[in-house]
Amino acid sequence: MSVFSPRRYQPPFSPLHRDSLPVRIFTGFERTIKGALWGCRMCGNCILQETAYVCPMTCPKGLRNGPCGGATPEHCEVDPTRPCTWFRIYSRAEKLGIEHKLLEINAPLDGNRVGHETWLEVVQTWREREAKPRPLEFITNREKFKKEWEDLFYSIRQPDWWQGDSEYHAPAYDEPVSLLEANLRTGQFTVTAEIAPPLGASGNIIVRKATMLKDYVAAANFTDNASASPRMNSMASSKLCLDVGIEPVMQLQARDRSRVIIEADAMGAAGLGIRNILCLTGDHFRFGPSPMAVPNQFDMDSVHVLWMLRRMRDEGHYLDGRKIKIRPQWFLGAAASPYGSTPKIEALRLHKKINAGAQFIQTQPIFDYDRFLEWLEALDKRNLLGKAYILPGLVPLKSARAAHFMAEQVPGVVIPPEIVKRMDDAGPDKEAQAETGVQIALEIIEKLLQTPGINGMHVMAVHWEAIVPRLLDEAGVPKPQIRSLEQEAIPA
Ligand code: SF4
Repeated sequence: MSVFSPRRYQPPFSPLHRDSLPVRIFTGFERTIKGALWGCRMCGNCILQETAYVCPMTCPKGLRNGPCGGATPEHCEVDPTRPCTWFRIYSRAEKLGIEHKLLEINAPLDGNRVGHETWLEVVQTWREREAKPRPLEFITNREKFKKEWEDLFYSIRQPDWWQGDSEYHAPAYDEPVSLLEANLRTGQFTVTAEIAPPLGASGNIIVRKATMLKDYVAAANFTDNASASPRMNSMASSKLCLDVGIEPVMQLQARDRSRVIIEADAMGAAGLGIRNILCLTGDHFRFGPSPMAVPNQFDMDSVHVLWMLRRMRDEGHYLDGRKIKIRPQWFLGAAASPYGSTPKIEALRLHKKINAGAQFIQTQPIFDYDRFLEWLEALDKRNLLGKAYILPGLVPLKSARAAHFMAEQVPGVVIPPEIVKRMDDAGPDKEAQAETGVQIALEIIEKLLQTPGINGMHVMAVHWEAIVPRLLDEAGVPKPQIRSLEQEAIPA
């Protein structure tokens, strides 16, 4: 148990192979010091310098690139009895003036290094490098020392197979690869909608719902075992939808998948003609039904997935370096949480996802419009609005109970008390409650239609998809213009 850091959720990693006795003794020494100071789990891929000396592995999900969507400044999403590790990292980085370091895309763990010491590795790398920080230069040439210090640690934390940076990488293609992308490029307000994959083995319900939405939305999202609860998987649901003639957005979450499976699933989706992939970290098992699975199931996070898939598509190789002869065509997306913590922190978090490869962003539902505008302003300050298409989320509230549940139980969702009260005031009649929910949704759509900087919206009418056509018709939302990629005059 660490002295100064939050408690650890798993024991320290053990190495795959055995080191010599002196190295094992040294490893024990390093573990004792770093465990006491930072709650070190001996991940063997230390990034403490990048994370303001707060160990990211103290996050219960082990996230190495930022917080999850449900964390708040006060609470970790998984363990509400403690603060979010990443919020501590951001706060301390701001105090130390090293916020810029938080934009670098940190690598996932290298399994060969976990459980091993890192201090000897630094010394070894220092000895092998020609250009290196020499102690005397700390006094005689501070700038040179600083640069070489940074270069030394970059070479350690960013292996050749990853090479993460802090830059924006525009997609390496010109023509839109999906109908969703083509519609977004027209500049017209574009709508996507979520269809919940069924619990059972029949795809009929997907066919029915997709057919109902076909004329109204540019693409339909399929969740990927959201809330850690199993359903028909996202890829099968997406294929069923594609066969109906509506383009799917396949959600692909990192939870439960190693990097091998993520690459394989994404490539499989490309082979089936699924072009839109929404990359997510995934909800922790804590949110799923009992019995809870073993908690340490995150090999990657959403930023890792975006970075890896973008490079597979644009550079044509797997993470291990093997070449991809026929490259996949993916339009990559990410989720955002405008109310997760402060707009500044959420903008920084999204900046990293966009740099990693996110081309479209679907957000948590918007109920508090003024706070949503603050988030947009924070994105604008980072010059992000032209770099990714923003699709704010819309949830039509079907009942007062649903409003209370979302306001009180769903991480990352903020519903102002006056909206909850309006739902309560609708009385006990279910139809009256649903009608109030529709009116609230129409008011939000009206505002979104006039909001500069966004490109459409993402409707999440889970198990109430039948309301979507009425909402879009009554709000006067335009129907998708582009119906085929062969259609001419798709703006570049
Ligand atoms: S980043 Fe890894 S090596 Fe560094 S303190 Fe945390 S667990 Fe230990």
